[in-house]
Amino acid sequence: MNLSDIRAVDCDVHPTVPSMQTLLPYLNDHWRETVIEREITTLDTISYPPLAPLTARADFRGENGRAGLDASEVGQQALDKWQADIAILNCLYGVQLVFNEDMAQAFARAVNDWVVKEWLDRDPRLRASIVVPLQNVEHAVDEIERCAVDKRFVQILVLCMGETPLGRRQFWPIYAAAERHNLPLGIHAGSAYRYPVTSLGWPTYYVEDYAAQSLGFQSQLASLVCEGVFVKFPKLKAVLIESGVTWLPGFVWRLSKFWRGVRAEIPWIDRSPNEIVRDHFRLTIQPLDTPDDPDIVARAIEHFQSDDMLLYSSDYPHWQFDGDEIMPPGIPAGLHRRILVDNPLATYPRLGL
Ligand code: ZN
Repeated sequence: MNLSDIRAVDCDVHPTVPSMQTLLPYLNDHWRETVIEREITTLDTISYPPLAPLTARADFRGENGRAGLDASEVGQQALDKWQADIAILNCLYGVQLVFNEDMAQAFARAVNDWVVKEWLDRDPRLRASIVVPLQNVEHAVDEIERCAVDKRFVQILVLCMGETPLGRRQFWPIYAAAERHNLPLGIHAGSAYRYPVTSLGWPTYYVEDYAAQSLGFQSQLASLVCEGVFVKFPKLKAVLIESGVTWLPGFVWRLSKFWRGVRAEIPWIDRSPNEIVRDHFRLTIQPLDTPDDPDIVARAIEHFQSDDMLLYSSDYPHWQFDGDEIMPPGIPAGLHRRILVDNPLATYPRLGL
């Protein structure tokens, strides 16, 4: 397809792994036997309980209450519906929750191979993120190298809340691989549940867990900036997926203000975090945490001081909005094309290949 003909790139679509049975053909003999003997029936992540209202919009659910189970369903419900010509699949299955590094590696491979065979090979409009077993950085880099040969993989996918802040140097080989292969680092809402999702301890309710994700995103942004990841890897981009967006300008203002006072601590950061964030971070637009009033939305977007940062996403099948409008109310018409097409193409170099 000619790039100028593209109407929309959906940067966050979730394929659902129907069951552990689905992955068995993609595991080697040892791990297949392990799954059967231990009766491991699911790796559904507890960040998205399958039947929780947020996990799928009611009109997308099939008879068993689940949505996004195969490529044709997603093709109709997410791409045809909103006239998207490309969608990036972010598979959220609990690979990152596993404690055994080798098991995590096996499941990451299985998920990525399943995505290729059952999704990418079935609909030419689909692209995908590489699910990496972050429990072991060598395994994660191996998986990136293995998958990056296929240009339909356009991003590396990690969860917002893992074991260690993402800026720490132990992860840098992953960012070197990302730069090498033109893959942005996609950070999606969700937790490996090594720690409580709030710094205060475990909350009681799911709604608290989900709302707390934006705090995790704030800390990851600060870590990636302050550790100097973008000084070492100047071509790297980080995409905050399903993070909400309105927290960012206020938090980055705070980070930039205090950097002025204590910058001697991190001398490699030789320009304001505000500038670094504008150059290196992108955000998907669902959930858009603004009221519908166009003036308020326009003002909220102005606070970004950039027209380059927002990327269209439906977050299919998650229930972030009702109705059939592709753009949330209030986003200035002059930005639509940038958000739908130009910014995604600039963020994901592999989409142009
Ligand atoms: Zn999402």
